Amino acid sequence: MKANVTYWLDETAAKFPSKTAFADEQKEITFGDLQKQAQAIGTRIAEKGLFKKPIVVFLEKGVDVLTCFMGVAYSCNFYSPIDVDMPTSRVNKILEVLQPALVITNAGLQSVFREYDYKGEYLLFEEASVSEGSIEKINAARNKGIDTDLLYVLFTSGSTGVPKGVTITHRSVIDYIDWVTETFSITEEDSFGNQAPFYFDNSILDIYSTVKSGATTYIIPKNLFAQPVLLLEYLKEKKINTIFWVPSALIVVAKLKAFRNVDLSDTLKRVLFCGEVMPNKQLNTWRKFLPDVLYANLYGPTEITDACTYYIVDREFADDEPLPIGIPMANTDILVLNDRNELVTGDEIGELCVRGTSLSMGYYNNPEKTKEAFVQNPLNPFVPEIIYRTGDLVKYNEFGEIIYLSRKDFQIKHMGHRIELGEIETAVSSLEEISLCCCLYDEKHQKIVLFIEEELDKAYIIEKISELVPEYMFPNKVISLEKMPINANGKIDRVKLKELL
Ligand code: AMP
Repeated sequence: MKANVTYWLDETAAKFPSKTAFADEQKEITFGDLQKQAQAIGTRIAEKGLFKKPIVVFLEKGVDVLTCFMGVAYSCNFYSPIDVDMPTSRVNKILEVLQPALVITNAGLQSVFREYDYKGEYLLFEEASVSEGSIEKINAARNKGIDTDLLYVLFTSGSTGVPKGVTITHRSVIDYIDWVTETFSITEEDSFGNQAPFYFDNSILDIYSTVKSGATTYIIPKNLFAQPVLLLEYLKEKKINTIFWVPSALIVVAKLKAFRNVDLSDTLKRVLFCGEVMPNKQLNTWRKFLPDVLYANLYGPTEITDACTYYIVDREFADDEPLPIGIPMANTDILVLNDRNELVTGDEIGELCVRGTSLSMGYYNNPEKTKEAFVQNPLNPFVPEIIYRTGDLVKYNEFGEIIYLSRKDFQIKHMGHRIELGEIETAVSSLEEISLCCCLYDEKHQKIVLFIEEELDKAYIIEKISELVPEYMFPNKVISLEKMPINANGKIDRVKLKELL
């Protein structure tokens, strides 16, 4: 039994030592070199006597970050990436929660990090990665570690302004990646085009499927996501056959019909997405141009190791229909609970709750927030059993598939009606002219506010959606923006939009 993800790297490096594991704009690394450099980093960490301690990785997004992740995992400590563009105040809040035992960075960025509230030790990547590793020291650490030890902590935004550090164990990642590689038949012949930042959990799929199966991950330069034709050309040139992106990134490609310029029909095999609602209108554009690709909608929050349900697209959908988030992944139980903490029946709406190995151990150094979201299973009074309450409202369709409706906090009461803002967004998204849209509720003025990127007037939109949603769900105000704000993870930035209310 594997208790540490680095055993995958050992196996893959033995099988494919000179195959490219990861590549960015500047460099490529083979599995052999990845193992060697990561073991060297792991050895330096182990020599400092660190075990089960938080270690920050502070480097520009690229191959070296992943080498550090593996190095930290070899030493049986856990990593937390901090983005080099993150605002100082947020970095300091994270450091306060995490209290890292070590920061891995390079000489150039060390001076930046010195400005933060951290007085501890550093390890310089350029020195550690070329030093001599010791498999004895690595194995001594791995023999002490167990699979429920932490592998990483990823920080998500907390409603109180204090970032929450979601802790994830080796076991959760092993379970998830076993499912991913089996379900999508990932082998050494596959190559991923990575979009997700490494501080966002979608990247776990790219990183660890690659390490486990001997595939290759190309880290796509960020600026290409604003230039769909160049982006598709990049996929073609690198022979990328699998992408796992946030819907916003797929929508940009669909909107500009970039497929007309670049034919990916011989290249792309799998288009997976997760992180927010994927509107069928744009998915239908993808499906029209690339009908033979496998499309899958994955759903889940960081707290359950990236995803817990999935739907492999297997039938036609009208533009205004919601795409199911599907069924639970293997070894995962989904409980949809109503307000009385009972399982919903029929098409009753409830909160999606998750039970299983995928669950985070809680928010790092934050027992209060942990207690709120990770609770005793109300259906099991007999033994301690924790479920995670996602705060997402869902219901079942006639096929027994789960349909995502909205976040619990996007549920509003407007003129006495209970409304899911997501439902209005689905209706508006189905309009031909609309690319991205977002609905918020202005509590103060009791108005449903719709944000769009096009110059369309309210009356026109209302006329178009009047057959899809009842009158009380019509937007009271429409704001046309030149560009929808997108957050660091690539999703629509609702916090920024709130400021515009
Ligand atoms: P994060 O922890 O940043 O991955 O955000 C998780 C949240 O994103 C979930 O709780 C959902 O509200 C939303 N989300 C994730 N995947 C999907 C999906 N496939 N469809 C709709 N919403 C999603």
